[in-house]
Amino acid sequence: MEKEVRGYRVENCFGPQGCKNRAGPENDLAARIESLLAEKELLEFFKKSVKGPLKFHHEFSVALADCPNACSRPQIRDVGIIGAAVPEITGEPCSMCGECVDVCKEEAVRLEETGQVPKIDRSGCLNCGQCAQVCPTATIGIQRRACKILLGGKLGRHPRLADPLPGCYEAKEVLDIVSLCVDFYKQHSRGGKRFAQLYAESRHDFAADLAGLIHDEKKGC
Ligand code: SF4
Ligand code: SF4
Ligand code: SF4
Repeated sequence: MEKEVRGYRVENCFGPQGCKNRAGPENDLAARIESLLAEKELLEFFKKSVKGPLKFHHEFSVALADCPNACSRPQIRDVGIIGAAVPEITGEPCSMCGECVDVCKEEAVRLEETGQVPKIDRSGCLNCGQCAQVCPTATIGIQRRACKILLGGKLGRHPRLADPLPGCYEAKEVLDIVSLCVDFYKQHSRGGKRFAQLYAESRHDFAADLAGLIHDEKKGC
């Protein structure tokens, strides 16, 4: 197994193969993250800091999912990335067909007979973009496509679900945050300590490092 350990792992969902649910931006983000991690020389870092043979669980792991269905399980990776399509009401006349209400699994769309306009409850919306996809009149559109970011998930003896960062991020911002996570990890991890454990123990110190990169809680997506 040791020969196959590369020091990092990037997993993707089936979105790039044409999944109709895809919500995130159309780009080469997975390939760009792979290149970034390759430059970080993680394998050399593990060889120096881990006693004994290297195993797959030592690798720094990133999972991308192209919509909130999260098929690639970003919640249990060091860094999880979830595609988001943020809906907006465009002002185009609504036919009151109800398709948007039916498709929303979060019950976040409501139709008001009086105003003939849909209302989206932003606190319940997961930014899957399905309401815009089914709307025949373009009354609901997509305001922006971006990514949610989760940090510090793992399985193993002490499993932990990753914490979401506030807001949504463009590809360049995602790369900056992944880069910072790896640098923080290399600086503080010894003996193969996992990023999730380190993140849970030193979240407040790390928050100071992240401060310039993360969005305001109130800004939403
Ligand atoms: S996460 Fe979404 S886009 Fe990716 S394969 Fe699953 S359903 Fe499709
Ligand atoms: S984007 Fe998805 S979760 Fe949000 S209102 Fe539309 S269908 Fe519901
Ligand atoms: S917003 Fe679009 S999908 Fe929803 S009821 Fe109006 S026309 Fe139908």
